[in-house]
Amino acid sequence: MVKIKFISNSLSKKHSCGMFHPESAQRIEVIEEWLHSQKDDQISYEILDQSASKEDILVTHSLDHYSLIKRSQGQTGHFYFDGDTAANNYTFEAARQAVSVGKKAIWESDSNTSIFALVRPPGHHATRASPGGFCIFNNIAIATELALVQKKFQRIAIIDFDQHFGNGTAYIHEKNPNILYFSTHADPRISYPGCGFVDEIGIEEGRGYNVLVPLGYRASEADLQIAFEELIQPIIFQFKPQFLAISAGFDAYERDPIGVLGVTVDGFSVIGTYIKQIASELKIPFAHFLEGGYNIQSLPDLVSSYIAPFIQDQEKRSHSLEPSDQTIATVNRSKGLLNDYWQL
Ligand SMILES: [Zn+2]
Repeated sequence: MVKIKFISNSLSKKHSCGMFHPESAQRIEVIEEWLHSQKDDQISYEILDQSASKEDILVTHSLDHYSLIKRSQGQTGHFYFDGDTAANNYTFEAARQAVSVGKKAIWESDSNTSIFALVRPPGHHATRASPGGFCIFNNIAIATELALVQKKFQRIAIIDFDQHFGNGTAYIHEKNPNILYFSTHADPRISYPGCGFVDEIGIEEGRGYNVLVPLGYRASEADLQIAFEELIQPIIFQFKPQFLAISAGFDAYERDPIGVLGVTVDGFSVIGTYIKQIASELKIPFAHFLEGGYNIQSLPDLVSSYIAPFIQDQEKRSHSLEPSDQTIATVNRSKGLLNDYWQL
């Protein structure tokens, strides 16, 4: 069992992408309300008011990207980067704070406490050169890259179960054999960002270190389960990371307003069970980064379901649902593509 320490950035509720936007401050508000009502001493919550340095952000982002976000400061109204992603006067500072919480999550999670970076804006779609998909700076990519550059760890694995492919994270690290990136996400033909096919396994030195499992419409935890058992577990146990960073998105939920997958509330406990098992087998610390998840009413239940296996000694498997033929074929295709790099 581990304690989960939630840490939010103090400006998380001030950043806005616009009225009626699904990536809203309410997402943090409802989780915060649930945290305040918690009596479980395995869970704690704090707010951090600290901004990452420009140097830390430039470890993965271009100066143009950084300067573009900075220009949104002091503007009235919204500053649009694309049709989906915008900033207000608070965004630059909120995003710098989110990066800072992410760094702390990797530096301070240990065998007793796992930090959950409860941050806005999210990060996994932000690429080296641009914001996108509601993301400004790539919190998880920056924190993991910094941990390698500053020699905190030599090898890190990232598991991203958000329903959207974390294109920013995958492409930032695609040449890096010291970061293993694993993602389950909706098939790019039916979902943003339109990339993240099974054959995108990394490039140059990083070939074999991106493991992508696109899933069909309404795929459930049974589909994630086979991806964990047949791909991520065998690969991660061979890779032997010293830290596990999780992009925790809750939009794979069957009732997400912008999602297309079919994971149930209990399904997030299935995901948590696999993550706990991997971390305990490898005896490594792990941390979580909030990405998507837009069903405001259900978000606290989804987060609670996901962390249950960590704070209680309960385990959950999906027995009632079956993986689809499409997922079985995708997993087999992935094994074929990755066979030169891992024993599968
Ligand atoms: Zn998402």
